[in-house]
Amino acid sequence: MSEVLNVEEIFGSKVFTLSKMKERLPKNVYKEVRKIMEQGGELSLATADVVAKAMKDWAVENGATHYTHWFQPLTGITAEKHDSFVAHPDAEGRMLLEFSGKELIKGEPDASSFPSGGLRATFEARGYTAWDITSPAFLKEDAAGVILCIPTAFCSYKGEALDKKTPLLRSMEAVSQQALRIVRLFGNTEATKVVASVGPEQEYFLVDREKYLKREDLIFAGRTLFGAPAPKGQELEDHYFGTIRERIGSYMKDLNVELWKLGVTAKTQHNEVAPAQHELAPIYETANIAVDHNQLVMETMKKVAGRHGMTCLLHEKPFAGVNGSGKHNNWSLGTDNGVNLLDPGDTPNENIQFLLVLACIMKAVDTHADLLRQSASDVGNDHRLGANEAPPAIISMFLGEQLEDVVEQLVETGVAEHSIQGGKLMTGVSTLPDLDKDATDRNRTSPFAFTGNKFEFRMVGSNDSIADANVTLNAIVAEAFCDAADRLEKADNFEMAVHDLIKEYMTKHRRIIFNGNGYSDEWVQEAAKRGLPNIRSMVEASGALTTDKAIALFEKFGIFTKAELESREEILYETYSKTINIEALTMIDMARKQILPAVISYTRSLADTVLAVKEAGADASVQAETLAEVSARLAEAKAALKALEEKVSKASTIGTEKEKAFYYKDVIFTAMADLRKPVDALEMLVDKSVWPIPTYGDLIFEV
Ligand code: ADP
Ligand code: MG
Repeated sequence: MSEVLNVEEIFGSKVFTLSKMKERLPKNVYKEVRKIMEQGGELSLATADVVAKAMKDWAVENGATHYTHWFQPLTGITAEKHDSFVAHPDAEGRMLLEFSGKELIKGEPDASSFPSGGLRATFEARGYTAWDITSPAFLKEDAAGVILCIPTAFCSYKGEALDKKTPLLRSMEAVSQQALRIVRLFGNTEATKVVASVGPEQEYFLVDREKYLKREDLIFAGRTLFGAPAPKGQELEDHYFGTIRERIGSYMKDLNVELWKLGVTAKTQHNEVAPAQHELAPIYETANIAVDHNQLVMETMKKVAGRHGMTCLLHEKPFAGVNGSGKHNNWSLGTDNGVNLLDPGDTPNENIQFLLVLACIMKAVDTHADLLRQSASDVGNDHRLGANEAPPAIISMFLGEQLEDVVEQLVETGVAEHSIQGGKLMTGVSTLPDLDKDATDRNRTSPFAFTGNKFEFRMVGSNDSIADANVTLNAIVAEAFCDAADRLEKADNFEMAVHDLIKEYMTKHRRIIFNGNGYSDEWVQEAAKRGLPNIRSMVEASGALTTDKAIALFEKFGIFTKAELESREEILYETYSKTINIEALTMIDMARKQILPAVISYTRSLADTVLAVKEAGADASVQAETLAEVSARLAEAKAALKALEEKVSKASTIGTEKEKAFYYKDVIFTAMADLRKPVDALEMLVDKSVWPIPTYGDLIFEV
């Protein structure tokens, strides 16, 4: 028997939880902290001192030597700068570790090297981190020792957001305020806030570390830039939900334990569709904590993989020809007195509050489809969205049979008389129970699907922070709620007014509903007919941030200023160009130093063989043919390599960041594909023993 895991004991052991605070803080201090967590406000410095001391004592008891303000700059990953608790020794030379309230609440990292998109000139380096009291502090343990991590927001000297958390917190407040207006209209006087909840399902690949280290493309770009398909792909679908192999199982076990210690509720795990691909989902929680926790999940996945001799790939498309990885962002809104605004109940046609919320979400998603699309774009996700794989780049909503039927009744006749019910599913086996059937089947091809009591936004990339997607969801829905409340609060006859408004919104925005196969070509044509945007790349999507419509939305709710939006757009262009540039340089390096030399020496041994066979008086036509074929491909590869090099060297002469990003997308990216093609063909022609890097077969079938 293996050692018994006591999950109840380890869960949250590395987190400064509420229960630990309660234990360690004087009652009045604990109460003040709770109040600010729930209602906002500022801690007094005196209180902060008390909290800081308790936090430090707990951390030190658990081996911590340093603390850090842990934040999420616009690089998409987290940042930390460690400070030790070491203070001036006293007169007798004794060390008393220190951590003050001031140090807890505010930090000032030198911020000049984080992307700011022109918001901050490099000489104005000041950036501040501020404690996010709503997300718990935790301990991180690695080779650097134990570090107390304090989740913080990161702003410039002038108060502009330089991170992902600040706008998220702003958007959560906005949607809470506007959603409260909606529930008040329906007589809910108890709720004091509405909380956005998020549960992200995280997909990932695991590859053997030794093999990973033999591939520069995986090391520098996180994805394969060359690679012919293996004889077997995912066509048998034998990996999805398949038995989990020992090595992977032991990884998953360690990963769960690490996450539980950090207070992350790792819940489900399974093999995904592609070979070597897996998934982990935690239980949903407040959006802001879910975003922090997803960062921890990604970090921990990578860390634990190392211990098992593997590398975790979070890139959206590590391998061509097999499924890539995404993140399903499950999102809902609930009041603090327990009402999920997205719960239709058994008879949604009678649930007017739900229908109003649904109508508002339809309006929000239709009006801001471009923004929602943008919120899910990152460089790697261009290989999924609108490329050769799901989900499509077109935003649409899946409601399922039951709700679509209700919407149809409302739009056609103005009243919804009935709701389709699920009924029973007969198993036809007397020893098996008959199952209650959901009123609606699933649709895996929709980018934004209603799944019972939440929406599942499936476009987000596996490597990306989920912050942007949730900022956008909260903001666009806040706006629709606000518009609706503005009208309904003034209405003389609420019943009539709400009925008219639901019908109006649903009629106007019905075009966003699509229940069919989102992967089909017909849908692309149909969507075009409906006038729905089909934005195929990150570079094309970025402009959505600074349309008049977007600026008005974000400024109205104090989520982003125009300057912040412009800076974010700029950063996206820069990030895109830099990333593709790294990929192009990596391809050049691999082709020049590894692949072409290997093929050249192979042609030489082929030539020797041809001569030797001929000399021996035998027929050398097969050898000669192979040599001709390989040489032809080699020449193609060489020409493509030269073309790519020339194009890359021109990039620095291109004007604005936006123009440069388009150049990388249209010119460099295409030149990269032109190089890959003959190289992948060569891989299929030459002797495996001379191919200088591990193949797809080696990488994804032999983990
Ligand atoms: P699926 O069948 O789509 O995998 P699950 O029930 O496993 O759905 O949920 C997937 C994710 O959605 C999990 O993280 C889960 O906690 C989360 N989730 C469930 N209910 C809600 C909700 N009301 N709001 C937000 N997320 C939710
Ligand atoms: Mg799901």
